[in-house]
Amino acid sequence: MAEAKKIDLKSDIKFMKGVGPKRAASLQKLGISTIGDLASYYPRAYEDRSCVTAIGDLTPDDENSIYTAIGVIVNIKEKLFGRNRSILMATISDGTGYLQVNWFNQRFLKKSLVIGKRILVYGKIGYAYGGRGMLAVTRLISFEQLEPGEAIPQQGILPVYQATESINQRYIRRLTENLLESGIEIEEIIPESIRKKYNLMPRRSAVCSIHYPKNNDELAKARDSLAFEELYIIQCGLLLLKKDSQQEVDGIRHLMSGSLVKSVVNSLPFSLTEDQANVWHDIERDMERNIPMRRLLEGDVGSGKTVIALLALVKTVENGYQGAFMAPTEILARQHFAKFTEMLKDKKIRVGLLVGSLTAKNRRETLERIAGHELDIVIGTHAVIQENVRFDRLGLAVTDEQHRFGISQRAALDKKGEHAPDVLVMTATPIPRTMTLTVYGDLDVSRIEHLPPGRQPIRTFVRENDRRQLIYEFVKKEIEAGRQAYVVCPLIEESEASDENRCHVPSAEEVYAELSQGIFRNIPIGLVHGRLKKDEKQQVMDDFYADKLKLLVATTVIEVGVDVPNASIMVIENADRFGLAQLHQLRGRIGRGPYSSYCILVAGSKSPLSRERLEVLRDTSSGFEVAEADLRLRGAGQFFGTMQHGAGDLKIVNVMKDTDILLRARQAAIETMADEKTLESIRPYLTDKYKDRFSQINDA
Ligand code: ADP
Ligand code: MG
Repeated sequence: MAEAKKIDLKSDIKFMKGVGPKRAASLQKLGISTIGDLASYYPRAYEDRSCVTAIGDLTPDDENSIYTAIGVIVNIKEKLFGRNRSILMATISDGTGYLQVNWFNQRFLKKSLVIGKRILVYGKIGYAYGGRGMLAVTRLISFEQLEPGEAIPQQGILPVYQATESINQRYIRRLTENLLESGIEIEEIIPESIRKKYNLMPRRSAVCSIHYPKNNDELAKARDSLAFEELYIIQCGLLLLKKDSQQEVDGIRHLMSGSLVKSVVNSLPFSLTEDQANVWHDIERDMERNIPMRRLLEGDVGSGKTVIALLALVKTVENGYQGAFMAPTEILARQHFAKFTEMLKDKKIRVGLLVGSLTAKNRRETLERIAGHELDIVIGTHAVIQENVRFDRLGLAVTDEQHRFGISQRAALDKKGEHAPDVLVMTATPIPRTMTLTVYGDLDVSRIEHLPPGRQPIRTFVRENDRRQLIYEFVKKEIEAGRQAYVVCPLIEESEASDENRCHVPSAEEVYAELSQGIFRNIPIGLVHGRLKKDEKQQVMDDFYADKLKLLVATTVIEVGVDVPNASIMVIENADRFGLAQLHQLRGRIGRGPYSSYCILVAGSKSPLSRERLEVLRDTSSGFEVAEADLRLRGAGQFFGTMQHGAGDLKIVNVMKDTDILLRARQAAIETMADEKTLESIRPYLTDKYKDRFSQINDA
C-alpha cells in the first residue's frame, strides 16, 4: 500500500478534502496554491452573526446599522447598463417587512437567486435609492443561500473572504473550517524568546482566531500578532542582508575631512542649512568608519541633496579614492556633470561622464581613464555599475533618485573592489514615514526636512479643460516678464493610446503644434520626449537651460532632477492621468528660483475622485503628505506594486495604521540579529523565504 501523503502547510491545495482539480485551479486564481496559502488567506471582513434581526426591526442609516437578516426572495429583476454593467435587484421578506438587496455586475448569480429562495444577508442598512422609504442593504458585506427550513448555518463572528463566481463564501468557509479542525500543525516562525517578550499569540491560535474569532478582543489580538509576524519577517530579512553584506567585506576608513572638502564647502554660493549640515555630519561619520556606509538620504524635491552628494564625493577623492554618481536618466547625468564640472573647476578634481550615447571611441577612452584613475568622479546612468566598468579604487557610490535602483543594484556595489565602497542612496520618492523601514530597512536613514530658505512657495491650481486659453495667456505674460515655462503632456503622439471614455487626450506633439502655431508663434518653444534621439534631446535641453527656449513642451522625461531656476510655471495637461507622487515630482521642477511659481493642473476628466486627487496637490506642498494621500486613495497594492521589497508580503498589515507594530517588530528584529542563538533559529526560514533575493544579490 502506498504511504499516505503527509499533509503539511507546503502541500498542494488539491490534497485538501473537497478540492478537486477544477476547484484547485479556481483557488489558484485567488492566490491559494498550497494549504499554507489557505491558512493565510485572511478574511477581508467579518460578519457578526450573533443575532438575526427581523426586517421590521431594522434601523436604517445609523452608524452601527450593520445587520444580519433572513428572508425569502419575493421579487427579482435585472437591469443592464452598457456593455458589461448590471444590477440584480431582489426584494426579500420575512413576514415583518420588505428589504431590497442589490448585486452589482454579478450576472452569474441570476441562475440561483430565484423567487422562493431563502437567503441570509449581512450588511449596512439604509433606504433604497428612489425607493420611497423602502429599506435596502446599501453595502452588502456577505450573503448566503439557505435551504428551505435550514437554521442559521453558523453563529458568532464569521470570516468574510474575497470570493469569486466559482469559489463562493460558503465554500471557502468550509475549507478554512476543515483546515483548522484537521489539527494540521502550524509551526511557529518567530523565535520563542521574541514571542514571549512581545506577548504574541501562539501562531496556531492566531491563525485560528483570525479566521474564527470568539469575540472582538481575540480578533484584535490575533490580528496584531500576525501583523507583527509579517513585519518582523521583512525586517529580519532586510537586517540579515545588511549584516551579511557588512560582515563579508571590510569598508573603507576615510579620514576626517580636510582642506579639499573645506574649500569646496567655502566655495558654495550658500551655506548649508541646519538639516543639510546634520545630514552631512551623519555621512562623514559613516565614511570615517571601517564598516561600509549604507545610508539613505531622503529629502523632498528641491531640498538640496545634490550638494551633499558633491561633498561626499569630494571627501572620497580627498582620500585618494574615486567616486561614482549615478542618475536615473541621461539628461540628469549630463546636468549633474555640467554642474559638478563648474563647481569643481579650480579644485584639480577630474570629473568624467559615462552615458549610453557616447561614441564607441569616447566610451573606450572614458573606461580606460576610469581604470587608470585619471578620473576622480564619474557621473553617469546606472550603466556605471551594471556594466563591466572597472574602477582603480572606488570609494563611494551615490545613486540619485533611488526608486529606479533596486536592492540588487545596491548590493552589486559590494563587488566593485576588495574593499566595499560606501553607498549613499538619495531619494525624493515620497514614501510615508511608516514605510521607509519596510522598503529601505537595510539602510540607515537621514532626512532633510526643510527646504533651503528664500524659496517662493509654488501655488498650485486645478482647472478644467475649457480654461486652457486663459491659462496660456497667463503663461505668455510670465514669459514676457522673463520667466520660462514647462507644459507637460501624458502622451508623446496622437495614436499612442485612446482614453477609455474616448475623450481626446492631446499628445505632446499636438500641444506643441497647437502652441507653436498659435499663441506662442513669436516665442521660441521646444519639444522634448523619450523618442527623440539622445543628441536631439540634449540639444533641446541645452537650449532651455541657456534660456534660448522660453517654453518647453515635454513628457515625463523631465520628471526627475532637471534644475532650471528661471522656470517658474508648469502647466500639466490631463493631469489626472498621472500618479500623485509623479505630479509632485514634476511640480518640483519649478519653484527653484526667487520667483513666484505656478503649477496649473488641467483636469481632463470631471470625475469627483480625480478632482479630489488633484486637490491634494493644491492643498499641500509636502511630498510626504502627498504620498500618504496617494496611498490612501490608491491602496497599498498599487502604491508598492513597483517596489522590490515588502509589498507582496503584507497581507494583513495596514501600512497607514500599523506604525506601532512596525516599530516593535523592527526592534524585535534588531534584537534577533544581536543574539546568535535567536538568529540561528530563524535564519533557515529567512534564507528559504528570501532565497531569490539573496541569490540575486550573490549573482549580481
Ligand atoms: P534635490 O534635493 O531635488 O536634488 P537640489 O540639490 O537640486 O535638490 O537643490 C535644489 C536647488 O537648491 C539647487 O539650485 C541648489 O543649488 C539649491 N540649494 C541647495 N542647498 C541650498 C542652500 N543651503 N541654500 C540655498 N540654496 C540651496
Ligand atoms: Mg536631485
